[in-house]
Amino acid sequence: MSNKTELPRTLVGETPELVGKTILLKGWVETKRDHGKIIFIDLRDRSGIIQCVGFKMMGELTTESVISIIGEVKSRPERMVNKDLPTGMVEIDVKEYEILNLAKELPIQVEGDAYDVKEEARLKYRYLDLRRNRMRKNLKLRSKMIQSFREYLFDHNFIEVETPLLSLATKEGARDFIVPSRFNPGKFYALPQSPQQYKQLLMTAGLENYFQIAKCVRDEDLRADRGFEFTQLDIETSFASQDEVMSMVEEMTKYAVKAVGAKIKDEKFPVFTYEEAIKKFGSDKFDLRTQEDKKTGLLAFAWVVRFPFFKKVDKEDLAEVADGKSGWTFTHNPFSTPLEEYVDQHLEGKDLDKIIAAQYDLVCNGYEAGGGSIRAHKPEVLKATFKNMGYSEAEIQASIGHMLEAFEVGTPPHGGIAMGLDRLAMILAGETSIKEVIAFPMTSSGRTAVMDAPAAVDKTQLDELGLKVVEKKK
Ligand code: ASP
Repeated sequence: MSNKTELPRTLVGETPELVGKTILLKGWVETKRDHGKIIFIDLRDRSGIIQCVGFKMMGELTTESVISIIGEVKSRPERMVNKDLPTGMVEIDVKEYEILNLAKELPIQVEGDAYDVKEEARLKYRYLDLRRNRMRKNLKLRSKMIQSFREYLFDHNFIEVETPLLSLATKEGARDFIVPSRFNPGKFYALPQSPQQYKQLLMTAGLENYFQIAKCVRDEDLRADRGFEFTQLDIETSFASQDEVMSMVEEMTKYAVKAVGAKIKDEKFPVFTYEEAIKKFGSDKFDLRTQEDKKTGLLAFAWVVRFPFFKKVDKEDLAEVADGKSGWTFTHNPFSTPLEEYVDQHLEGKDLDKIIAAQYDLVCNGYEAGGGSIRAHKPEVLKATFKNMGYSEAEIQASIGHMLEAFEVGTPPHGGIAMGLDRLAMILAGETSIKEVIAFPMTSSGRTAVMDAPAAVDKTQLDELGLKVVEKKK
């Protein structure tokens, strides 16, 4: 049968208001109960689920098939009302239906929470996995959270700007993902580890208030709360002091997390110095919640400030070795400024281990939720950072010469932060892995969801790029 009628589509959630009307519904067969002559279907769309009473032929339907139904909305008798469903007081008396896409037997189940289903299967069939309630709820929550951040920032005169994906290495302390250039064989772009330098250049450009929901890519070891790709809310502002940036971020964070129903332990986020944090908690990512707070789902935010600017290079870490040629590398961000009282020492390159950066991290429930700093905006300060890490004049020019140039044509003092949106959404959703709040995350072994990358490429493609794959030496 087919729905030739020109009825507009009605959403399942609207049905309780439409008793007596004949309507057109479209959605998925969530369940089918076959009683021979009568077939009960639970039809699901993005707004909810409703019981439909159908006829014998509908026995052909399989669960998760997509169908359209024309039927009459009927009140259910008092004793048949399903109190667990918002549409439980009505049901649809099916007049005709059409199969829009018949579902075969599913490779994974879409009901239940799937905490016990293997990751490989969930990610291979992610489009099915995302049909489950839990995942749809998580994605909605993430979207609402991002909407709320945007609302706050637009209300406070920030403008959203996109920055390039293909560029030069960005110096965030991880290995780069590189992309070969067809027009320049043997030359490579790097994917951004963050928009750090571009956002600073936007301050030089006079934008004053920038933000971006930015994808960042870092070739690091994978963990439950970290992937190769992640999304950050990247912010930069001019002429603001460290305290001013921190209170703006604090206000914004409270606004966004409350908008998705979160409750906060301390409205005024406590501030710890790095030294205090290490002494008190043995870590700079600590959890201030009591057992009781955990049960009630509270969020405990806190700031950590006064981080050392430099640290000794970890010889096992290739990215650190490359950056810290003097044996010293930055702890957080080479574009930060030292606190005022350490600038002279920084310029002279003395007692590097004692220099404190104007860096601030936001922690929440034991995770790092964000990190930022006031930046060096004078060329000599930025240059000193790289000198202290052992860069030669030529190396400095090659990696940050463009920043030094920009800092000589009217760059205002500025600072900012990046908030880890995957982690924040994970905490808000009460999940313990960021994969539960990312639509298409990678597997633990770094393979992509649904599509199987990384993959080999054609020889012609390699030739065009001037590349040859050789066996990796162990
Ligand atoms: N670029 C830094 C990061 O990605 C954040 C910042 O300092 O704004 O960690």
